[in-house]
Amino acid sequence: MIRSDLRADTPLRLALSGPGPASTLPNRDSHGYRDRMHRTIGNPTAKAAIDMALWDILGKAWGQPVHRLLGGWTDRMRVSHMLGFDDPAKMVDEAARMIDTYGIRTFKVKVGRRPVDLDVAVVRALREAYGDDIELYVDGNRGWTASESARALHQMADLGLTLAEELNPADDVLGRRWLVSQTPIPYVADESATTPAEVTRELLGGSATAISIKTARTGFSGSEEILHLATGLGVEVVMGNQIDGQLGTACTLAFGAAFEATSARAGELSNFLDMSDDLLADPLQISNGELLVPDQPGIGVRIDEDKVERYRLDR
Ligand SMILES: [Mg+2]
Repeated sequence: MIRSDLRADTPLRLALSGPGPASTLPNRDSHGYRDRMHRTIGNPTAKAAIDMALWDILGKAWGQPVHRLLGGWTDRMRVSHMLGFDDPAKMVDEAARMIDTYGIRTFKVKVGRRPVDLDVAVVRALREAYGDDIELYVDGNRGWTASESARALHQMADLGLTLAEELNPADDVLGRRWLVSQTPIPYVADESATTPAEVTRELLGGSATAISIKTARTGFSGSEEILHLATGLGVEVVMGNQIDGQLGTACTLAFGAAFEATSARAGELSNFLDMSDDLLADPLQISNGELLVPDQPGIGVRIDEDKVERYRLDR
């Protein structure tokens, strides 16, 4: 069990405790504190933050980057950028800025407006502007009905989409199954699959064929459970974004780089580009369309304490 008085500078032999004498072997038992947190219903983001903070402390105590403790698959992730609702020409321009400035070549297009032609026109304009040089997928945030979604997917069938996410509500149970059964690309559950139980229900119920993992809502420990559940059931995953700043992005990056399945696709790691300020002392830098995992113990980032003082809301 992780000791409650553990600090970044705690000697390794004191950082670990459990039955018997202190050990120098890594002990990843996280059930104690997670069990305590789960006695309270809800507050997944706060619980996720605590879970990831404990992993950060553990990594620092062991002198290891968290991405290596978790799985150590790679040291980087490709970045996917989200394009919001706008006119086709403006979204093509925004994509050009991301390609030219950051080398990003994967774009998640937000859809779900009515009529569906509005969003179909955007996706078509992006494909026509950049051809096969870019990867495109769509996220509807439940904006369409099942039949609208089917019509839109039919109209975009020639545009080489790689994923379709939450086009219609999972609560439209039969409509969702009907849609997913005829969708020829992975259909991603995001907001409808936020816990291992929801992931199981959506996948076994035929309401999704891929899962979005967000460390902001399931931390590292819960995300690991969801990842293993998804890969065990044979479906793909994508690392999603919860409108993360740079700290949240660093967490997503650490988890995503740790495993083959989470780093196979570009992760949604660019939302911080839309923010005017942040909390990290050393800002994340996207180049060649990638983010490198900081090779430092823990999550590998330093917090700017002055900015925490400036932005905190509890005083
Ligand atoms: Mg989504």
